[in-house]
Amino acid sequence: MTNTQQDTNRWAFPIPPRIASIAGVKPLELETTEAIDLGPRMRRIRLRGAGLEDFVYQPGQDVMLVLSEGERPLCRRYTIRGFDQRSHTLELNIVAHGVHGPGASWAAETGPGDRVNGVGPRGKIFLDPTADWHLFLGDESAAPGYLHMLEALAGGVPGQAYLEVSSPEDELPSSADGVTWLYRGDVPAISSTMLADTVDSLELPDGRGHVYIAGEVQIVNAVLRACIARGLEPAQLSPKAYWGRGKSNELNGEPGDRAVV
Ligand SMILES: Cc1cc2nc3c(=O)[nH]c(=O)nc-3n(C[C@H](O)[C@H](O)[C@H](O)COP(=O)(O)OP(=O)(O)OC[C@H]3O[C@@H](n4cnc5c(N)ncnc54)[C@H](O)[C@@H]3O)c2cc1C
Repeated sequence: MTNTQQDTNRWAFPIPPRIASIAGVKPLELETTEAIDLGPRMRRIRLRGAGLEDFVYQPGQDVMLVLSEGERPLCRRYTIRGFDQRSHTLELNIVAHGVHGPGASWAAETGPGDRVNGVGPRGKIFLDPTADWHLFLGDESAAPGYLHMLEALAGGVPGQAYLEVSSPEDELPSSADGVTWLYRGDVPAISSTMLADTVDSLELPDGRGHVYIAGEVQIVNAVLRACIARGLEPAQLSPKAYWGRGKSNELNGEPGDRAVV
């Protein structure tokens, strides 16, 4: 093996049977085709490879990448930002959060030709087909998936996303209408109350809607409480904790704590 091949294989860890056998997923043996900065704190990674030729998923679902060796490897999950049906190319947008972590390190270091393995699609949260309207509330880690869901809404069904980022430089491109970017400035993500404040002051549309909430676990819980205080029922709420303050996600890519309705 040449040095170059060794280098492109440095993230290509085997998918152990316990991960390959997760219900509904298929193995993905991928290669990075593009890795660029979308802004100061976001990487766009495009991937192609085995498992994507006939990939079927719903906007809101994610892929889980295997980022270490062994029967219980370190995995990280990333919501699908887009999938090009013609070239079978998957797009992920990954926050460069500035703290050492295997997911952020992979996103920072991977380049065209690098291999990475994983499984997908994962995740049980996607658009509620019965909803009269959709409301998305999340931080930058939730923005890629929520933009994809908003873009996938059937014409005429209203959707609104409130996405909290540090500054206007962090806005992500999207063809969707209905996106409001909230800027927390120098306030740390874990101290911001902007999403919960938005729920407190928002005029909710008529009809029965569905609310999707994702980001840091304690913020997700605060936003959930705000939604319940507005009279929304648990069945209308889809919370998902993506990361936890001050600690690494667990091997399976989840923060230890859950968002609870
Ligand atoms: C279903 C699901 C979908 C997800 N989709 C996406 C996605 O589309 N894009 C995306 O970027 N992430 C997404 N995440 C989060 C992602 O899986 C990782 O948690 C994240 O990339 C951090 O992993 P890491 O290995 O870099 O850091 P970790 O080892 O988990 O954490 C290291 C340190 O970084 C801190 N940290 C982690 N994330 C952030 C953050 N966003 N801001 C500030 N500090 C942070 C932690 O508190 C910890 O102190 C998703 C998570 C889940 C469960």
